[in-house]
Amino acid sequence: MAHLKRLPVDPAEPNRPDEPATTDDSALRRSHPALRTAVINIGLGWHALVRELFEQLPRNVIASRITEKDGELQVVLVGRPEGSDEALWRAAELSRYTCVVCGEPGEVVVRRGWMKAVCELHAAAWTPNAPIPG
Ligand SMILES: [Zn+2]
Repeated sequence: MAHLKRLPVDPAEPNRPDEPATTDDSALRRSHPALRTAVINIGLGWHALVRELFEQLPRNVIASRITEKDGELQVVLVGRPEGSDEALWRAAELSRYTCVVCGEPGEVVVRRGWMKAVCELHAAAWTPNAPIPG
């Protein structure tokens, strides 16, 4: 019977697009009721950004997904609360200049077709291990 073997992941290695972010989301989840049941798959570097975003949104908002897509923060809310579009757009824009690994200033780096917002240090260490997209 053929089966795929999972390669061990080095915890010192920055997040790769094919691996879930190896971060502890519990503090972020506790910071806002909207985040309790959301799917969260971002690096630690963006946690402060997400926290700030939810401080601007109505208290009764509920998030379904907080993810990284093409080097940008993607937040999916349940419904579309009034006034949320601009806050979401601003957070996404800001995420493009914030290292997803450490939160330092960075920019979107493209490597083998994958995009990731990283600082100089983490850009040097990042090698996408996933197949080339498209
Ligand atoms: Zn960094």
